[in-house]
Amino acid sequence: MRLLVVEDEVKLARSLHDGLTADGFAVDVVHDGTEGLWMATTHSYDAILLDIMLPGTNGFVVCRTLREQDNWTPILMLTAKDGVLDEAEALDTGADDYLRKPFSHVVLVARIRSLLRRRGEARPTVLTVGDLVLDPSRRVVRRGESTIELTAREFAVLEHLMSHAGSVLSKQDILDHVWDVDFAGDANIVEVYVGHLRKKVDEPFGQASIETVRGVGYRLREGDA
Ligand code: CA
Repeated sequence: MRLLVVEDEVKLARSLHDGLTADGFAVDVVHDGTEGLWMATTHSYDAILLDIMLPGTNGFVVCRTLREQDNWTPILMLTAKDGVLDEAEALDTGADDYLRKPFSHVVLVARIRSLLRRRGEARPTVLTVGDLVLDPSRRVVRRGESTIELTAREFAVLEHLMSHAGSVLSKQDILDHVWDVDFAGDANIVEVYVGHLRKKVDEPFGQASIETVRGVGYRLREGDA
């Protein structure tokens, strides 16, 4: 397992290198964001440990740039001890997890192993189908240049349809993914929400992207633009 550590505090970087090497990882260390970005794009890593405040290019920009380049290497961001906002932003920029400094080596290794287990499940945080764009981390939906206001439940239904664009989803499938397990009502509630979504994401734009597949369920058409 090969790791990239991007950390400008030389002492911390060295201790990360030595500790992780002792645990059997192959570890490359760089002390600057620009170099980190270059290493991450020219080599293949199993995971990246990324500090935020870095000379050259900061960690948020490194992370966002990698994701924009369709690089989904798991990223564990190292945040400052009172950086609550940093942590939210870390996840928004596409980091998989964060670890607050100072951290123990045991916790660090556990987090890295957990990231490696989840590897392969990484997917773009932003869903795009035609000119419809849904950003789960920012809770934003747009059709072209227009921002669309949705309730939390409408958002969740649309997110499920968009992440399976082109496939037919049954009402029960949508219900299972969007409603709590203890929801005891009728699966026809899905119909109501699909109706709301059509009024918001299709009709004002003269589109009909959410299709009813009679007797089966619903499908979000892939080809609309
Ligand atoms: Ca730093």
